[in-house]
Amino acid sequence: MVQLVVPGCGFLISCSGDAPSQTKEPRAATQLERESITDSSDTPIRVVASVPDLADIVSEVGGDEVKVSSLFKGPESLHAIDPRPVFVPMLNRADLYVEVGFQLEVPIDHELFRLAQNKKIERGQSGYLDASVAVTPLDCRPPGQPRKPGDAHPVCNPHYLMDPLNGLKAAETVRTKLSTLRPSQKGYFDMRYASFRKRLLERLLCWYEALLPYCGTKVIADHNGWPYFAQRFGLECMGDLEPLSGHPPTQDYLVKVAAKAKSEGVSIILSSSYYDPKYVQEVSAKTGAKIVPVAEQTGAREGTETYLKMMDYNVKQIVAALQGGK
Ligand SMILES: [Zn+2]
Repeated sequence: MVQLVVPGCGFLISCSGDAPSQTKEPRAATQLERESITDSSDTPIRVVASVPDLADIVSEVGGDEVKVSSLFKGPESLHAIDPRPVFVPMLNRADLYVEVGFQLEVPIDHELFRLAQNKKIERGQSGYLDASVAVTPLDCRPPGQPRKPGDAHPVCNPHYLMDPLNGLKAAETVRTKLSTLRPSQKGYFDMRYASFRKRLLERLLCWYEALLPYCGTKVIADHNGWPYFAQRFGLECMGDLEPLSGHPPTQDYLVKVAAKAKSEGVSIILSSSYYDPKYVQEVSAKTGAKIVPVAEQTGAREGTETYLKMMDYNVKQIVAALQGGK
């Protein structure tokens, strides 16, 4: 194993013969899984992902052996996902359903799965995959503390894919599942995963290099979607504009956030594609912090059509804003 520590900023890259992940080796298929396997290269595994980040990661690993669609396309809020009739036939025909987890998809799961009538992709079945299983979560609700009504982050912060190493962990989780569903193609999935891992780690070094000069920079965001990104790249999240995740700010709350941001010397405000820009504009006017348009998921903005492009875009946007100073 090779470990690269970037001095002064706590950056750590672990490189070994395999991915930095807690995912276990594929186990033998259960009887239920064997019954559901369509182990024929002539028929792609039909995969539905809840979000485009995961759809792209499944495409990267699955290649020609999968046919992937995403319930959501990118520009919409992850938390504004309502069951839509068009989703029902997609899920009805799916061999595999992949979701973010941390209860992000709970608002759609129950109703959609009732209508889709496809038992094999329901939670706990062979065609279900929670992509978060190998991820170390952040912002988790303490044990015993009741869920706040209306909290869009009911368990832990679900935006873990903003850390590219969590994207890699999700890819390995996908590789394990696809290899279980189609064991004859395990070598193919391993090869595809290795290619994705290589490209991601090469880009990661570039992203580190670009952001290293700004280690410790204080940022805020319209929505609390960036703690994983900030942790990976040494930025310091000083909060967001929402009194409760998923709820727009009141005027009093905005004033408090702006006062804190100004006193803390916040440099930039990360602005999501779906969020009403008037809120970040008001805080920017009060603090002098720059507004940085970012992509909170793949496809959220032009030029972010893949997961790696989305990461590229965000790093470039943040660096461009910080290069100019305040
Ligand atoms: Zn969120």
